[in-house]
Amino acid sequence: MKKSLLIIGFVLLAVLMFNSCGSSSSKEKQSTTKEVTKVQYTCPMHAEVVSDKPGDCPKCGMALVEKK
Ligand SMILES: [Zn+2]
Repeated sequence: MKKSLLIIGFVLLAVLMFNSCGSSSSKEKQSTTKEVTKVQYTCPMHAEVVSDKPGDCPKCGMALVEKK
């Protein structure tokens, strides 16, 4: 029981350290990639079906693909 708590503590510590290291770089990334890239999703079979989020085509149920 105590041993598992110790392991959990180590894991938490490692995660915290990893997050503190990664957060600084991710913040930089967020500021540089702030320009919102509007991705649209469309059905391969129905070009008129356009969605701003991934999902299924309401007409045929196919998975929508990213529009380029
Ligand atoms: Zn479709």
